[in-house]
Amino acid sequence: MASLGISISSVAAGRPMRSLASSPSCSNNKPFASLNATRSLESSRAPFRLEISYDRRFSDELRRQPLAAARSGPVVAAAEPEPMKIMISGPPASGKGTQCELIKKKYGLVHIAAGDLLRAEIGAGTENGKRAKEYMEKGMLVPSEIVVMMVKERLLQPDAQEKGWLLDGYPRSLSQATALEDLRIQPDLFILLDVSEEILIERVVGRRLDPVTGKIYHLKYSPPENEEIAARLTQRFDDTEEKVKLRLKTHHQNVEDVLSTYKDVIFKAKEIHCCVVKKGGAFINC
Ligand code: ADP
Repeated sequence: MASLGISISSVAAGRPMRSLASSPSCSNNKPFASLNATRSLESSRAPFRLEISYDRRFSDELRRQPLAAARSGPVVAAAEPEPMKIMISGPPASGKGTQCELIKKKYGLVHIAAGDLLRAEIGAGTENGKRAKEYMEKGMLVPSEIVVMMVKERLLQPDAQEKGWLLDGYPRSLSQATALEDLRIQPDLFILLDVSEEILIERVVGRRLDPVTGKIYHLKYSPPENEEIAARLTQRFDDTEEKVKLRLKTHHQNVEDVLSTYKDVIFKAKEIHCCVVKKGGAFINC
């Protein structure tokens, strides 16, 4: 029987740290995964760059056959290649935005961020936006009846259907995951970013946005290039120490429920020096 595979590698600019590549001897029709990680020379706070690449020997087959379907039976090639579908999850300031930019550019996927959809509603002054803001200010999850519909509608738009999607910050609860499962919307890969709490808080509190270019700065680690930019930087209303602690608590309370839904397609990238990938039912540490 034909086998299929996916190769995942994680790198940060700097010296090689450690690398693990599983042999593609995938005779049981389970997805094959491999990963490489390098640690940054600069500091543990330097951004972690994640690269995903299909193993060339298997890529055509994988793209014809979503992993979710392959889990349960033999490979059956469909007429049209399926676009890639990825979910990415992680606590506040774990680097989702940075990874999403890289993945989006490399694979041409449509980036759909639940938080951005909600902030757009707030910006437009809609009723949903007003309600959502009350929860977001408390670091709580916005009720599913607001978020689920918003995300479903966006996923079903033609650009996401044609190019594939990178879903960021959704699902964050079992009911949100189930809402997609009910529509048979499943990812090929679920990336979980895992970063220590101390680093997250420092990142969040120093994070600033340039409203003109959309670029994200950090007052200490990635300061603005000049005074003019510094003067116009804004801070997200929920990027305070008090609120990020609440957001972290909410993340930890919900993440396990979501992971159970996607346990066969999870790639877990833990704070630069440890990666875990699930391969054929067993975790491999590196
Ligand atoms: P972060 O990952 O830093 O929490 P986001 O922009 O993803 O930032 O989310 C900001 C806020 O928007 C969250 O704290 C939460 O209140 C709300 N939110 C985002 N995604 C969801 C979701 N899937 N379900 C419910 N609320 C959400």
